[in-house]
Amino acid sequence: MAVEGRTHKPVVDIERCSFCAACMDACPAEIMPEMRQEIDSMRGKIFSDKDMQVHLKEEDTLPLPKCQNACPISQDVRGYVRLIARKKYKEALELIRAANPLPSICGYVCHHPCESACVRGNLDDALSIRSLKRFAADFAPLSLTPVKPVASINKKVSIIGSGPSGLAAAYDLARKGYKVEIIESYHRPGGLPAWAIPAFRLPREILERDIDFIRQTGVDIRTGIEFGKDITLSDLEKTGTDAIIIATGTRKGLKLELENEGEYQGYWECLQFLRSIADGMNIEPGRQVIVVGGGNAAMDSARSALKQGAVKVTLIYRRGPQEIPADREEVKAALDEGVDIRFFTMPLKFISQDNVITGLHCAKTELGDPDGQGRRTPIQVKGSEIIIPADIIISAVGQKADHDSIKNGLGLKGKDFLQDADILTANLPKIFTAGDFAIGSSTVVEAMADGKKAAVKVHEYLSGLK
Ligand SMILES: Cc1cc2nc3c(=O)[nH]c(=O)nc-3n(C[C@H](O)[C@H](O)[C@H](O)COP(=O)(O)OP(=O)(O)OC[C@H]3O[C@@H](n4cnc5c(N)ncnc54)[C@H](O)[C@@H]3O)c2cc1C
Repeated sequence: MAVEGRTHKPVVDIERCSFCAACMDACPAEIMPEMRQEIDSMRGKIFSDKDMQVHLKEEDTLPLPKCQNACPISQDVRGYVRLIARKKYKEALELIRAANPLPSICGYVCHHPCESACVRGNLDDALSIRSLKRFAADFAPLSLTPVKPVASINKKVSIIGSGPSGLAAAYDLARKGYKVEIIESYHRPGGLPAWAIPAFRLPREILERDIDFIRQTGVDIRTGIEFGKDITLSDLEKTGTDAIIIATGTRKGLKLELENEGEYQGYWECLQFLRSIADGMNIEPGRQVIVVGGGNAAMDSARSALKQGAVKVTLIYRRGPQEIPADREEVKAALDEGVDIRFFTMPLKFISQDNVITGLHCAKTELGDPDGQGRRTPIQVKGSEIIIPADIIISAVGQKADHDSIKNGLGLKGKDFLQDADILTANLPKIFTAGDFAIGSSTVVEAMADGKKAAVKVHEYLSGLK
C-alpha cells in the first residue's frame, strides 16, 4: 500500500497495493478504525475511515487480496492469519469455518493456491498459509459451538456422495435451514479423503473432526448405501426429498490402454488399491511395484506400497518433471522416501507368466507438439525399450465419473446427459450435480467450491427464485 505522507490523508495506490493489509498493522496513525487498539485514542482522531481514500474509477470495485482471490472458496486468508497472529485462535477458526466446512482436511492436504499467490513470495517466501489453517484447526476445535441454522425450512435435500463437494453443499444448505441427508456407498463418510488419500497424509481423526462438526449442523449422513443399487430417486421421493445433488466424484479408473489390461494377477487400478489399503489390506513384503502416472494419486500409491514393505517402487511418467501434475511437495516426499521416479518413460506391454505379472515393457519418450489442451504429446523414442521387473503394476493415470450407478438410480436407461448440467436440469428439474462428478477430477477445495455453487442453485430452485 502506498500512503502519501505520514501526516497527510492516507491514499491507497491501487496500482501498487497488493491488499496484504500489512500497512494497517504497521501504520502508527492506525488509519483503519477496525484495527485501532483504542477506539478513542488520539491517533484514532487523526483520521476517520472516511479519510481513507482509494484511487478507484467509479465502475471499479476494490479487488480482493491476491491470496483470497486465488482461493476457489474465497477464504479470508488475511483475516484469519491476522487473528492467529493475535492469538485469537477460536475466532480464526470461526472465520475459516464461515466459508469452509473442512478446515482440518484443508489444513493437511489443500493444494493451497493462496500460497502461490501470496505477495510475500515477491520478497522472500510465501506465508505458510495451509500450515496456519492447520494450526488454527488443531488448536481451537473443541472450543467451537456448533453453527445453528438461521431458519427452519420444511424442505428436504438429499445429497449423493459424502466427499468434499457433497459435504460443502450439505453444510451451506443445513445452515440455511433445510433438512439435509447424505447417502454414501462407502462405510465411512468423507469421499476420497476418507478412502483414497492415505492416512499417513490425512489422519482419519482429523477428517472425523470436520465431519462431526458438519453433523452438528443437523446433516444426517447415511453410509453403506449405494445409489442406483440400494436406493433410487423414487425411494428418495417417497421420503419427501425435494431436490437431489449428485456429488459422487470420479471413482472409475482410466485405463492404460494396453493389451489384456486388468486380466493379470498383480494388476491394480489405483483407487481400488488405495481403498483396499484403507480397509486394512497389506501387500506381501518384498514385492516389486510399478506405478504408472504422475498425479497425487500416483504418488500416494507409490508411497503406500513402500510403507507396506515393497522392496522397490518405480513410478513411470510419460512427461518430465516440469509437467508432472502432482503437488511439488508430494513428488519430493516420494523421492525422499525412496520411490524411483522415471520421467519420460511410457508403458508398452505387460510381461507375465501363467497370467501373473512379472514386469512391464517400457520405452523412453520425448515431447512433441502440444495437444488440444496445450500439453506436449509424449512420443516413443525408437530403440529405447526396456523391461522393468514387477510383481504389482498400479495404473494411476486418472479417473472418470461412474455414470452407470447414477443412471440406474435416476431411471435414465439409455439416456446419457449426465455430463451436461443444463440438459440434466432441463429434463429432471430437481436434480443438480456438484464436485468432481460435474467438473472432472479436481482438488478438495475446488470440489468444495462447486458444492457451494450447487447449494446456491438448490436454494434458488426450492425458494422459487429461479
Ligand atoms: C489418491 C488421491 C489423492 C488426492 N490428493 C489430493 C490432495 O492432496 N489435495 C487435494 O486438494 N485433492 C486431492 N485429491 C483430489 C480430491 O480428493 C478430490 O478432488 C475430491 O475429493 C473430490 O470431491 P468430490 O466430493 O467431488 O468427490 P469424492 O471425494 O470422490 O466423493 C464422492 C463420494 O461419493 C461416493 N459415491 C460414489 N458413487 C456413489 C453411489 N452410487 N451411491 C452413493 N455414494 C456414491 C463415493 O464413495 C465417494 O465417497 C486426491 C485424489 C486422489 C484420488
